[in-house]
Amino acid sequence: MSLAALPGQERAVRFLRRLLVTRSLPPALLFTGPQGAGKADAAWAFAKALNCTAHKDDCCPLPAPGTASPCPSCSAAEKGLDPDLQRVDAEFQAAVLDEDAAKQKSLRIDTLRHVLRVFEMRSMEGRWKTAVLLDAHRLVPDAANAILKGLEEPPPRAVWILVTHRPAELLATVRSRCQSVRFAAVPLAAPTTSEADPADWVKDPMAPFTLAEGLPRELHLARPRAEALLDLAGAWLRRQRGREVYASGPARFVLRDLEALRAALRRNADPRLTVELAALRLQELDSVEKPR
Ligand SMILES: [Zn+2]
Repeated sequence: MSLAALPGQERAVRFLRRLLVTRSLPPALLFTGPQGAGKADAAWAFAKALNCTAHKDDCCPLPAPGTASPCPSCSAAEKGLDPDLQRVDAEFQAAVLDEDAAKQKSLRIDTLRHVLRVFEMRSMEGRWKTAVLLDAHRLVPDAANAILKGLEEPPPRAVWILVTHRPAELLATVRSRCQSVRFAAVPLAAPTTSEADPADWVKDPMAPFTLAEGLPRELHLARPRAEALLDLAGAWLRRQRGREVYASGPARFVLRDLEALRAALRRNADPRLTVELAALRLQELDSVEKPR
């Protein structure tokens, strides 16, 4: 997702764009705000934007049919092939320490030492190095202190982005060294481009794909958004058909399927797949019921 596509965060996005244009960055940023506000998406977009060769104050949008392909830098970042961009989370730590991802409860000092080593490596002329620390409240104190030490003499063109919905759990010394960027709560029912209207999903053959791609990358953020989309689809269908929905066999089956998908989501089904299937079901219904 690009900064431009981030719903409901005009203030934070305006601030980030200004940083991108002026390139006078603090060595550490702290993204705070409620879960589901898009902090992690914003951090990732901002990190990509720093090295984007196509845009000054944003990254390239994700590849989708009908849009220009992303620049080589954004494309490499999306594929996880950009050595200058570190996305520090449980999976990253598991890979660095050669451990089981499910067992990573906190961000530890060895992981942070690894990040710091990458920061010290030379990169191609003019490129920025970014470490996006997701769930930064999971930093253990000595790992947080390693960051502080790194901030004493920050390498040029290196930036930390700490992301958390629980900033109070961070060491005060870390909080005070970061420039804070606050993200507002986004009401789930807020209109967000075409995402919010199931009537559009039915018309647009690409909708199942674009909806799924539009979900946040982090599972814990994608899940509530996917749930909201399923609810929206169900409510729309009921509204569309009114009482008829109970008389119409096919629509009733779709409602039942939507319920089943929602249940699957609660049992850890993949949010993208769930949303894609829901949109496909709505489209199927539309084509069945349309007189040919
Ligand atoms: Zn780009």
